[in-house]
Amino acid sequence: MKGNSHDKVTVRHLARNAYLYIRQSTLHQVANHAESTRRQYDLRLRAVALGWSSEQIIVVDSDQGQSGSTADRIGFQKLVSEVGMGHAGLVMGLEVSRLARNSADWHRLLEICALSDTLILDEDGIYEPAHFNDRLLLGLKGTMSEAELHMMRARLHGGLLNKARRGELNIPVPIGFVYDEQYRTILDPDIQVQEAIRLIFSTFRRVGSALGTAKSFRKEKILVPSRRPVRGPHSKVSVIWKDLDVSMVLRTLQNPRYAGIYCYGKTRQHRNAEGGYVCQKREVQDWHAWIPDAHEGYISQEEYEENLRRLAENAQAIGAGRRSPPREGPALLQGLVLCGRCGRRMRVSYHTRLKGEIVPSYVCARKEESSCQTIHGKAIDEAVGELLVELMTPMTVEVSLSVQQELEQRFEQAEQMRKKQVDRARYEADLDRQRFLRVDPNNRLVAASLEADWNEKLKLLAVAEEEFERRRAEDRKSLDAEQKSKIRTLVSDFSRLWNDPQTPARERKRMARLLIEDATLRREGHEITAHVRFKGGATRTLILAAPLTAAERFKTDPEIIQEMDRLLDCHTEKEIADVFNERGLCPSRGQSFTPAIVSILRIGYKLKSRSRRLRDRGLLKGSELANKLRVGRGTIKRWGRRGLLQVHYCSDKLCFYEDPCLAPATPEEVRDRLRTAYNQPRTQ
Ligand SMILES: [Zn+2]
Repeated sequence: MKGNSHDKVTVRHLARNAYLYIRQSTLHQVANHAESTRRQYDLRLRAVALGWSSEQIIVVDSDQGQSGSTADRIGFQKLVSEVGMGHAGLVMGLEVSRLARNSADWHRLLEICALSDTLILDEDGIYEPAHFNDRLLLGLKGTMSEAELHMMRARLHGGLLNKARRGELNIPVPIGFVYDEQYRTILDPDIQVQEAIRLIFSTFRRVGSALGTAKSFRKEKILVPSRRPVRGPHSKVSVIWKDLDVSMVLRTLQNPRYAGIYCYGKTRQHRNAEGGYVCQKREVQDWHAWIPDAHEGYISQEEYEENLRRLAENAQAIGAGRRSPPREGPALLQGLVLCGRCGRRMRVSYHTRLKGEIVPSYVCARKEESSCQTIHGKAIDEAVGELLVELMTPMTVEVSLSVQQELEQRFEQAEQMRKKQVDRARYEADLDRQRFLRVDPNNRLVAASLEADWNEKLKLLAVAEEEFERRRAEDRKSLDAEQKSKIRTLVSDFSRLWNDPQTPARERKRMARLLIEDATLRREGHEITAHVRFKGGATRTLILAAPLTAAERFKTDPEIIQEMDRLLDCHTEKEIADVFNERGLCPSRGQSFTPAIVSILRIGYKLKSRSRRLRDRGLLKGSELANKLRVGRGTIKRWGRRGLLQVHYCSDKLCFYEDPCLAPATPEEVRDRLRTAYNQPRTQ
């Protein structure tokens, strides 16, 4: 190792350029560490002192603001290629090991410098990588730099985690909470914000689904607060009011902070192959901090857990755990039915009858196989409804009262919320008015703009007031007189509430859900067994006759078919229809029998046709008899009409004749006898 730095610099080095590599890893550092940047530029003076002219010194600073871990640092790549091509006599950098933050890059640069006989300069001195000792020192510097970075990070992160474990790390709190002067988490002193958050929880308690909660808010036109960061020199957070959406309901329900629980470390970051970061959720047991009762909350921890359980139930696809919230369709037991064969949840399918009536079926659809069992829902719903009405007498008052109370409470709550919105609008309008009044009237521009602001706020106030009055009138109207008396009767009469066609299916289902835990259905032949389990554990078993299938329902009475079979021996289908109608019999579909219906039934039940029956008895067609007697067909017809031949009708057109040629007479003798009989004068 040569002792003096000047000894290392030779003419060969001075003939080439000197490169000054400047880098700050983040934009924040670029802005705040001007000192360090200045030190980096000072290095060029050292190069000049060593003999390079200032035109030879090339500054590479295109990597400013890029982290050492970023893979594509153009400046550094440019530096490496210049060194590799032997253009560089000297590479300068502040704490040179930081030239390349990860060790692999650093060692590669050292090797290339050694091969191309390039010197390296930092604040401590000048190095010649071609020499073993210098290279060892530089390598050590790189390793130390890497270790230092690691230690720094670990210390920083460890301190953070310890603070978080004690619950003292101040992380952003969700809307509804703020920090007080001592950095303790307290409920937002803005009562409107508090009540909106409370309303989300109470609505979810009532409706049972996140979507339902969001819909209810939109229907009632209630806004919820949200934080919006304001960008600017004094960045702060302002509360804006907006419509509630499902994601916000979910975020609110799933956030343990609302139950007064301090938590930290819900997610972790991974490095990926591209050098970027991926955010991943942790399981609750892996969170760094979980401190119950850390501060005041909006709900209890039990309610928080219950909410998560309900959300999980709602989210599971058709499967074992699903107990879905009541939806609009009329199926009373929707979401409560279990299959009696395989134990799975049964889903509801609706179909529309001819008359527009919507009837439900409970279907057990195992995905891998075809349907396990399908059970017609109407009869079951009715039977369960009757069961509830029958059982509910002692519970009536309680349930109905809670329904009524809830209704009123809901209207009141909604009204209060809207009132707050009006108050806020009024407050803001007042504020603008005062601002306007304070301004010097001669300052016209300012006065005009403030006046415009004030007018805008007044407009908003008018809209808010109008909306408030309109909704209040609506709520009052809907609860007044008629409905209130109705509710009163409902309180005293659960069965009337139940059977009232005005009661929406959804409400009826909610009432059923207050009482029924689940129902197990099983169909065996023509019998359906329904085990109804009530909340609290009581059970009832209903046995119902399965409704007939369409084929069974439209089956004609077997006695009618027997009678038809008997009558066909000596009557036409038209005559049979007349006989049935005279006796007051009806076919399964339609009011009375017609020859066509008789014919359809005869074919359907495979009865022998009348013509077949007559042929079997040996009767002859007109043409056959005419051939046998050697007369014309007209003659046969005339003889038949005269009553000389025995005629049996099949229909108006088709008839058969009994053979008159009985032994010992020959056909000729018979023909002559008939001819004589026909020519005799008729006896009147
Ligand atoms: Zn099943």
